[in-house]
Amino acid sequence: MSVELRLIPCLADNYAVLLRDTVTEATAVVDAPEVAPILAALERENWTLTHILVTHHHTDHIDGVVALKERYGATVIGPRAERDTIPGLDFAVVDGDPVAVGSLVGRVLETPGHTKGHIVFLFEGERLLFSGDTLFVMGCGRPFECDPPVLWESLTRLRALPDDISVYCGHEYTLANARFALSVEPDNAELQVRAKEVEALRAAGKPTLPTTIGAEKATNPFLHADDPELAASLGLPGAEPGAVFTELRALKNRFKG
Ligand code: ZN
Ligand code: FE
Repeated sequence: MSVELRLIPCLADNYAVLLRDTVTEATAVVDAPEVAPILAALERENWTLTHILVTHHHTDHIDGVVALKERYGATVIGPRAERDTIPGLDFAVVDGDPVAVGSLVGRVLETPGHTKGHIVFLFEGERLLFSGDTLFVMGCGRPFECDPPVLWESLTRLRALPDDISVYCGHEYTLANARFALSVEPDNAELQVRAKEVEALRAAGKPTLPTTIGAEKATNPFLHADDPELAASLGLPGAEPGAVFTELRALKNRFKG
């Protein structure tokens, strides 16, 4: 393997991820919620940060960008559509653009919904997706800047990726997501198993990341908005997937597990 990863808990429930190319020693961080834990991880490993990959402009993903860039001279790559709200951006990328971290070459996918310009980073050769606040474990981001069906369309793009792609997302929201998922899909056997697994992980203080595209296809109700059975169970038989997704998001926002 020429890739090494380190998952770094930040703030209350954010994650940053270090992605290291062992061939060239290039090292990227995906999102920079705060400086201290990222710096501590880099110093512990004796790694030098060369790239900062930004999924979207929210403060809890960019607060550490400028300080880390100044400290290491790292190159900052983020969405062109949010270039005015991401300080320190060197390369503003759009859908399909390649992103190289040493010899690791990823690709940008635009996934609007949570924010208008949200992007994710897919490293197909390494079977890795960094999904930011678009796709969470058994959940998805809130569509703050777009109508919910826009986020649904973005999620269907991610759902179409191969099952064995590992997914690192921006937050540890898994327990609450699992409880909501069970409330709308109580008979989903794979979901029942996964919910127990993540309860145990969290009880042991461990992260629930990464997930995989295959696991999300099986257990994430937000990827099931085009399932006629789910639509019917929500009282929306025959409704468009975008409408079912909108209802799911509204239910989740009101959910008190
Ligand atoms: Zn966000
Ligand atoms: Fe966030």
